[in-house]
Order: sequence, then structure tokens, then C-alpha cells
Amino acid sequence: MANEHEIAPEELAEPETEAAREETPLSQPESEPDEGAEEAPQSEPDVPAAAEAESEAGCAMKMGWQDGRRCGHKVHAAPVEIDERPVCLMHSNDPNKQSGPLFDAFWLEFEMILDEAGENEAHFDRFVFPRADFSVRKFKAICRFYCATFTRWANFGHVTFTQNADFSGATFTKDAEFRAAIFTQNADFTRATFTQETIFFDATFTQDAKFVRATFMQDANFIRATFKQNADFYGATFTQNADFEFTKFYGTAKWRWCRFLDQAEFRDIKFLAKEPKAPSAVFSMTRFTKPGEIVFEYVDLSRVLFLNCDVSAVWFTSSVKWARRIGYRGFAVFEEKILLDPVLSKEIWEFGTIDHGAVEQIYHQLQKNYDARLDYRMANNFHYGEMEMRRLEPPADGPFIDLRWILPRWMNLLTLYRLASDYGNSYAKPGAWLLVTLLAATLLFPILGLEQKQPKPGNPAGNAIVTYSSVWNRQDTYTNNRWTEAKLVIKSGITAIDTATFQRNPEYTPVYPRGRILGILETLLTSSLFALFLLAIRRQFRR
Ligand SMILES: [Zn+2]
Repeated sequence: MANEHEIAPEELAEPETEAAREETPLSQPESEPDEGAEEAPQSEPDVPAAAEAESEAGCAMKMGWQDGRRCGHKVHAAPVEIDERPVCLMHSNDPNKQSGPLFDAFWLEFEMILDEAGENEAHFDRFVFPRADFSVRKFKAICRFYCATFTRWANFGHVTFTQNADFSGATFTKDAEFRAAIFTQNADFTRATFTQETIFFDATFTQDAKFVRATFMQDANFIRATFKQNADFYGATFTQNADFEFTKFYGTAKWRWCRFLDQAEFRDIKFLAKEPKAPSAVFSMTRFTKPGEIVFEYVDLSRVLFLNCDVSAVWFTSSVKWARRIGYRGFAVFEEKILLDPVLSKEIWEFGTIDHGAVEQIYHQLQKNYDARLDYRMANNFHYGEMEMRRLEPPADGPFIDLRWILPRWMNLLTLYRLASDYGNSYAKPGAWLLVTLLAATLLFPILGLEQKQPKPGNPAGNAIVTYSSVWNRQDTYTNNRWTEAKLVIKSGITAIDTATFQRNPEYTPVYPRGRILGILETLLTSSLFALFLLAIRRQFRR
């Protein structure tokens, strides 16, 4: 194997160490522990007596987690109390492994395992690695680093994994370097611990990438990384900076239940999910301990879920993109789309319960967020969605609960509020309704009759009631008749304005009783609409 071998070739040229000889016959993973025990005493004459006794059963370390198979390799004579139980060189914590003959023996054995595996599974489960430099290598085997410990720098820079790479449960005690690494199949870092700096800069994950419950104790650098399928960071902890800049996600990026304890930057991220109905990223139940340190910049958030995640103080720069509502009614979050689409809400259930209250909460937090930054215009954009959720929410308590359940959902005051002014967002709407009301009153008053209250001197028709038909003189010309009708409409218009503006001594008043009722209705409507108009103006232009 190993045409791309890069591991200390000059050191490997000197294999005749005791340790190396101890390890070589033991690379038979299938061997029963008994067989190992039989071989052990014969092959090694100068192992100390104590170690010899312990070695009878071979290394007791469990390989993998399913089959419970034991390592069975020859026990390594480590200094006292280094290992909890007798284990082989690969599993030993012996610090002497870091250099010299033991270092060579370790890597010789490693290469043999990899060689034997060919394109099958190569098991390095629970191995304790000394300084590991794999840069630019190509791993053709399925690499299992399950629960392995990298005690020094682990350099996987520019490495290519042709098949699955399993680092689940692995511990990187020092820096973990995966710069420009290529994972051709699945990459599994479930429950991995990255103690120091972690670099996935420019890495490519061709299939699913799992960082489920991984712990990043220092900076995690995913700058320019590419995730061609889903990336799952479920329950991961980012203790220090998390950098996702220029990162590309072709599937869904899941940061559900993640904890960001310090800074996190989501800049220039490209969410390129092909499936338009799937969310591009999920932050449900994600916790931001220092929300002011979380930055979203040049990111399309139109399909990002923030369900049950407090975003009220997260920093969204003016460059982020939200999904627009139809008809310039502000922005909509993706949760609302899922909630209101019965098919979608059945398909997308795994990220938590999406109900009206939850979506309303997101809108409310986004409003609060922009309000706190004095960006009232942006804050307004989320007001419509919040009110819409409140309007559509099934009644849960309050008076007349039974009645409200029977009535159609739209039948409530909020529907009127929406109709009149888009929940206070539009001042054009109440303005238009105001004009419509005045016009309707103007045209209706003459049908019911207008009464002249202040007869002009010399006008004998004082107190006369005029209607459309009463001013129509059949003997006169058609043009003259039209003029008198037009004059009546103008008078009626003035009356409508008088009524709307509470004039005390109008020239004409609508006749009692029906005209008066209409007048009262007009007054109520116009004053309410005017109030809505003023409120909307205030909302739009507040400072
Ligand atoms: Zn072992």
C-alpha cells in the first residue's frame, strides 16, 4: 500500500526494535484472545516477568462499539501506572511513543493495518496517536478513528479520504488541522473533542458531515469549507470563536441545540440547497450565550429557521436578506411558510413543533432586535407577520371561548385591523378608506334627504328637504338638471365633511331618522380611520 507514504520514512528504515517485533505478529484482528495468549510467551523472551503474565490475554482494549471485539495485540511494557490496564503499544499512553524506536514501531504497525485493509475497513479504534502528520496523503481504506486520541498535533491537511472517515468520539488534544481535506464519502465527527484550534479551512465534505455533539474548546475555523450534502452540528458546543465565512452549504446546515458560548461569525455564507422546500439552515433551540457577538452578514436568511432560539440580540447587519411578503407587507420567516402549508408542516417536523405562538415569538424577537438598534423601519417589517400569527392562532382562552371556536378564524377584530391599515403598517390604506367613506356618505345623503338648517335671507325654500329626485325639474333642460344634481352632490359633500369634522352649525344636515343614523355611522368610521391613519404615520416616521 501507501504509495503516498509520508510518515518518517528514514525512521521506518530501522525496524529491528523490540517493540516492533512484539507488535508485528498481532495485526490479526480476528484472532481469539486465547491464540494471542499462546503465542505471546514464545515470541518474546526479554519482556519483564510481570508484563509477561499480563500479556497472556493480549491487549484488552475494545475495538469498535458494536461487536465488542478485543484488540488482542501484544501487551506493551509501559512505565508503571501509565495505562490503567495492560494494553498494546497502539493503545498505550506511554509518553516514550512520541519519539525514538517506539514512535517508529507505532507507525510501522499503523502502516501495516492500513496496508492490510486495502479498500476495506482499517481500524484505529481507541488508538493513542503520537504526533501525526498525514498531510497530502490519500486514504483508500474506510478509516475508523473511533474514540482515538491524538496526543499531539494532528495534521490531516490536504488529505483525501476516498471512503468514509469515522472520527466519532475522537479526542484531539492539540491542534486539529484538516485544511483543504477532502472527504469523498461521509465524515463523522460525532462526539469528537477538539481541545485546541480546529481548522477545516477550505475542506470539502462531499457526503454528509456529522459534528453531532462535538466539542470545540478553542477556535473552530470552517472558513471556505464546502458541504455538498447536509451538515449536522446537532448539540455541538463552540466554546470560543466559530467561523463560518465564505462557507458553502448545498444541503441543510443544522445547528440545532448548538451552544455558541462566545463569538460566531456567519459571513458570506452561501446556502445553495437545491430543494426549495427544505430549510437552508436550522438554528432551532440553539443557544447564543453572548448574542451580541453573533454576526450574520451577507447571508440569505429567507429559509433559515430560528425556531425557539433567542435572536433578539443577535447582530444582523443591513446586508442580510429576509424573505419578502407579497404586497410590500414586510418580511416573512420560513417557519410561517411551513406552518401555513399543511404538506410542508407534515414533511418538516424534525426541528420542533411549529405553532402560531412559536412563529409569533420569532417575529417579536426580530422586532425587538431591530428596535433596540433604533432601526424602526426594519422592525416594522416583522410587525405584520407577528399580528398575522396572532390573528390566525386558534383561541386558547379568554371570554366567549366556545363561540370563538365556532366562528370562522377570520372573524375577529384583528381582521378589521388588517383590512383597515395592515396592522398599522400602512397609512395609505386608512387614508383611502377615509376617502371612500366620505364619498359613500356624499352619495348616500341625497337619497335619504338633506335638510337646510340655515335658510339664506330671501330664500323661501328654507327648511326644505332636498333629494336627488326633488331637485330634478322635468320642465327644464337636461343640462340644467344635471347642474342642479351636481350642486346637490357638492352640498352633500360639504355636509359629509361637516359631519366628519363635528361642525356645529352646518348649512345642511341629513334628515332624521335614517339620514342621521348614516351621519353617526360616518362620524364613527371617519374618526376611527383617521386615528388609524395617524397611528400608521407615527409608526412609519417615528424616531
Ligand atoms: Zn491494543
